[in-house]
Amino acid sequence: MDLKNAVVFVTGAGSGIGAAIASHFGRLGSSLFLVDREQDALKNAGNFLISIGVKNFETFAADISQELDSKKMVNQAIKRFGKINIVIPCAGLIRDGLLLNLEKETKKVKSKLSFDDWQDVLNVNLNGTFLTVRDCAEKMAEGGWPGLIVPISSVNKAGQLGQLNYSSSKIAISLFPKVIIGEFLLKKILNIRVVGIAPGYTRTPMLEKMNQSVLDSLLKTVHLNRLIEPSEIAKLIEHISSNEALNGTTVEITGGICHAHGVVK
Ligand code: NAP
Repeated sequence: MDLKNAVVFVTGAGSGIGAAIASHFGRLGSSLFLVDREQDALKNAGNFLISIGVKNFETFAADISQELDSKKMVNQAIKRFGKINIVIPCAGLIRDGLLLNLEKETKKVKSKLSFDDWQDVLNVNLNGTFLTVRDCAEKMAEGGWPGLIVPISSVNKAGQLGQLNYSSSKIAISLFPKVIIGEFLLKKILNIRVVGIAPGYTRTPMLEKMNQSVLDSLLKTVHLNRLIEPSEIAKLIEHISSNEALNGTTVEITGGICHAHGVVK
């Protein structure tokens, strides 16, 4: 794919991984369509892009979990740039909590994972990603442009304690590439590849919202012994865009997570 002439569509572009992807592809000369729900976050991201000399972008405030917003943002991207080549739906959130919190002495349940926290996460991470992917894919299939869709899963798709909602959303997202590419093959939609990414623990504002002692213990299982940088994820997406053999799968980028327990002598 010729990245200088590519239109890159990023949600969650006002923060973290989405913002890093925007600057990476902006530096490579791609046109950027950037979505987030808060104008302020988009303004900051836009100001940063301008400060590094990237000018060919449009920002658009939308709630990606709303079907009407999804339609509007995709229509606006086509109106502005005439096509979409790479779609990276990064908008996501966490609302961590245990299914049941018990009183130590009495074993009575003092709180439960709220249905709001369950729904908020599924609405954005799963339903919202579905809408972005579906509505962009519609235009890309009709347009016939070279295309790549990159659903964002997580290493916590493996099932992270305290993240029943988040892990459920991310295991579902990890299946998107396989299922969608099967459908594209059947229907001869051959211009679009779908390759997911499952990042490990990455230095972004989302991680600051995690329980930090849990995070510290999780980091002890990382061979690289540090957080992943959002720029490292952006570089991986650049590689995927140039390597057609990668398709219909979800690639992990974690620094090497070791789930082994105990000490091997
Ligand atoms: P982040 O810094 O919190 O950025 C996510 C952005 O998405 C925020 O600006 C957020 O806005 C926005 N957003 C949330 N809900 C939205 C909605 N309904 N409509 C539009 N925008 C919305 O998080 P990140 O760490 O960069 O995460 C990006 C993606 O990577 C997520 O899918 C996350 O699950 C995934 N991921 C992250 C890590 C990690 O360690 N950081 C690891 C694996 C996977 P608000 O701030 O207003 O909510």
